Amino acid sequence: MSYLLYEGPSMLDGKPIFMVLTGTEQPSRNSKTGPMLQTWILRSDVNPLDAMRFNEDVSICGNCPLRGSEGKGRSCYVTVARAPYQIYKSKPNLKKIKKHIFKNRAVRLGAYGDPAAIPTEVIADIRKRAIMTTGYTHQWRTCDQDLKQFMMASCDSEQDREEAKALGWATLRVKKADDSKLPGEVTCPASEEAGKKMTCYNCGLCRGGDTSDVVINVHGVGFRNFGRVYG
Ligand code: SF4
Repeated sequence: MSYLLYEGPSMLDGKPIFMVLTGTEQPSRNSKTGPMLQTWILRSDVNPLDAMRFNEDVSICGNCPLRGSEGKGRSCYVTVARAPYQIYKSKPNLKKIKKHIFKNRAVRLGAYGDPAAIPTEVIADIRKRAIMTTGYTHQWRTCDQDLKQFMMASCDSEQDREEAKALGWATLRVKKADDSKLPGEVTCPASEEAGKKMTCYNCGLCRGGDTSDVVINVHGVGFRNFGRVYG
């Protein structure tokens, strides 16, 4: 069963978007996150494949450098043709959210899409009702700064991390395997390099606020493009 969490303008560019919650009956099979509820952020008026091809995904991805352009040169780990496309097609059948659904559940904000596209009060309400949330934003320079209570600043370089720290964010930095960990960073325990010893469900470091900074080696379908994007 999938639930509609938000439908309205994107906080990034005002275009129509929606946010969906999945995994309430069948726990997520994502081996990294563990059994967390997942949220997906999509354009309401254009399917996610076309959104990607025509750069309309800027409404849900903002300035994330991993989205590439016109669907090319992506470094993002999400395969849009899979879950995001299926979820878009299921939009007419989405149920209205019932608040008790979050009871004793942990939620991953933005399995696809940047949660900064969603109004802060919606994110704050999910956080209030769930036992834990994790989330990341590439919009940390420009988004509502209250979101730093709930999310990590996604950083793709040491310079990014320095700037995000100066603004008061906890950071999640993606690095190349042979780059060093920086002082104050903890290696993600769900990563290959840490031996996948924990899931996000058990770890919960990426909850934003006064948590530790996290670092992880680039992974997923787009890893070959990472060098192209960041040199
Ligand atoms: S640090 Fe913890 S919460 Fe963050 S991605 Fe890794 S396992 Fe998940």
